[in-house]
Amino acid sequence: METQRLRIAMQKSGRLSQDSQALFKSCGLKINLREQRLIAHVENMPIDILRVRDDDIPGLVMEGVVDLGIIGENVLEEAQLIRASQGLPAEVKTLKQLDFGGCRLSLAVPDDVAYTGPQSLAGKRIATSYPGLLKRFFDEKGLNFKSVMLGGSVEVAPRAGLADAICDLVSTGATLEANGLKEVEVIYRSKAVLVQAPNPLNEAKQKLIDKLLPRIQGMQQARE
Ligand code: ATP
Ligand code: ZN
Repeated sequence: METQRLRIAMQKSGRLSQDSQALFKSCGLKINLREQRLIAHVENMPIDILRVRDDDIPGLVMEGVVDLGIIGENVLEEAQLIRASQGLPAEVKTLKQLDFGGCRLSLAVPDDVAYTGPQSLAGKRIATSYPGLLKRFFDEKGLNFKSVMLGGSVEVAPRAGLADAICDLVSTGATLEANGLKEVEVIYRSKAVLVQAPNPLNEAKQKLIDKLLPRIQGMQQARE
């Protein structure tokens, strides 16, 4: 389905939503984001904003269903690893790393467990929402582990007896502490990125992107 309007996907509600919205606004996009709407039309430019779950954004961009997306590198790279292993298209053009959405993906173990390095977790059960990134980390170390896939509540897995350790996103560490866990290894550092679909866009859309990018660049420099 080709459309003449540039389609940009952003997270509907969550940690990237406000900053994504602020970015559009600072680029001069006039958007009327009514609460329940999936698609918001930009009033002053031929752009539509799609608001979806962040997990859906990599696939939408890689399949060319939308032209641009704002997504955490953690979710993007995880999707790339999983999709590539399934033989699905997994390419995007990364246009810009953004200055928000910073977090790290870390290994954490119960407070009373001795940890001397990744080999301490060899053969252990690790709960995570990021099996691809976790496997890549252990593969690089030449170590085996058992992955327990959990979409949420990863931090309760050790206490519930579901896993020996977890691999989860951390920003302050308060959630880990509250669950009797200690962060022992950072395996991935992430920020939000602006990505473009791999297929060439029509001239009008590409021109619009070429006009928007320097505005984003300028705005980020101003904040540094
Ligand atoms: P959705 O309903 O869209 O699936 P979600 O619950 O999966 O939302 P959020 O918790 O809103 O996702 O996080 C979205 C992204 O924000 C993360 O994938 C990550 O890139 C980034 N992020 C920044 N700081 C944190 C943090 N402290 N914890 C988790 N994610 C963070
Ligand atoms: Zn999500």
